[in-house]
Amino acid sequence: DAGGNVRVVVRVRAFLPREIERGADCLISMDPITQRTTLHIPNDSDPANTRTKSRKVIEEKAFTFDNSFWSHNTEDRHYAHQEEVYNSLGEEFLDHNFEGYHTCIFAYGQTGSGKSYTMMGTPDQPGLIPRTCEDLFQRIEAAHDETPNISYHVRASYFEVYNEHVRDLLVPVVPNQPPYYLKLRESPTEGPYVKDLTEVPVRNLKEILRYMKAGDASRTTASTKMNDTSSRSHAVFTIMLKQIHHDMETDETTERSSRIRLVDLAGSERAKSTEATGARLREGSNINKSLTTLGRVIAALADPKGGMGGRGKRNREIVPYRDSILTWLLKDSLGGNSKTAMIACISPSDYEETLSTLRYADQAKRIRTRAVVNQDHIS
Ligand code: ADP
Ligand code: MG
Repeated sequence: DAGGNVRVVVRVRAFLPREIERGADCLISMDPITQRTTLHIPNDSDPANTRTKSRKVIEEKAFTFDNSFWSHNTEDRHYAHQEEVYNSLGEEFLDHNFEGYHTCIFAYGQTGSGKSYTMMGTPDQPGLIPRTCEDLFQRIEAAHDETPNISYHVRASYFEVYNEHVRDLLVPVVPNQPPYYLKLRESPTEGPYVKDLTEVPVRNLKEILRYMKAGDASRTTASTKMNDTSSRSHAVFTIMLKQIHHDMETDETTERSSRIRLVDLAGSERAKSTEATGARLREGSNINKSLTTLGRVIAALADPKGGMGGRGKRNREIVPYRDSILTWLLKDSLGGNSKTAMIACISPSDYEETLSTLRYADQAKRIRTRAVVNQDHIS
């Protein structure tokens, strides 16, 4: 049975220098046995949380997720390195890709909570994306000898959604030229897709990492030019894996195609702050539309009366996928043919934002998707 809930994991990062300077307390604890994550009440002396305290009744909150990654202090015996995150999530998802399933892993959280660190990482501490690429080509190379009747074909694409525009990150930015935006289309068989998006064939790890880095650089360059940071854009790195299997005995050829989607979402604090006032909402509506819509889509899918778990067609139609570029493109990943995971990234000492992220993640746990093996006889 390929029906299953969205896998939800949480990861807390170390203090940043500015948090150490202000003497911040860590408000998070995680139980490695039960996977329970607890958000504690901030201390009076932490200026970053006093505003929160004066406005609201705050209390200790606990949540349980499929996995909790403690990446707060390296001295802790349960410290989760990049490798652990890959081993307990990325590796299994890559198994599914080889079985022929589409997968999607997305990182959610406020700016500075560790989304890019988790997905992309640093040259010394590579994250999920480069580790997935490495494992992918290692498996393909090993299979050359083990299963010579299967051929493997890999393609990659990388785009960002910024201000409700789709920008191809594998097309170099031309200086002094306005950015070139791509359009969305929907195919009856493949679902929504980005028209004319660059899909490069890749033969080895070195090539795919080169595209990954080039795309990442393009994301940063463009956003710096717009006098902004990448915290407002959603970056979607996609790997397409095609396995062509020729059965020597029956002389039949079958093709398995799977899609690996790795998404670094925009900072979640944007969606909330624009809800605060009408003026901000109008001004920032495009920038945040994809993120606020994602919240509505998740809420609709998590509602037992809506989404895939619903009884009738009518309920399914109320999921507002088409209200934003991101949710339209991720329609399959969110409520359809995909095995999907969400990594909720949290800061150690921000009560309000962390509570909002944990609640969001808690809701995502209830979403069910229905993945199928994408396999066809071709001759
Ligand atoms: P986001 O993409 O959510 O805005 P980043 O991934 O850029 O956040 O993380 C913010 C800062 O915290 C960066 O300097 C990053 O290197 C650091 N960081 C995040 N997560 C970790 C972690 N698990 N261990 C060590 N440093 C981390
Ligand atoms: Mg980031």
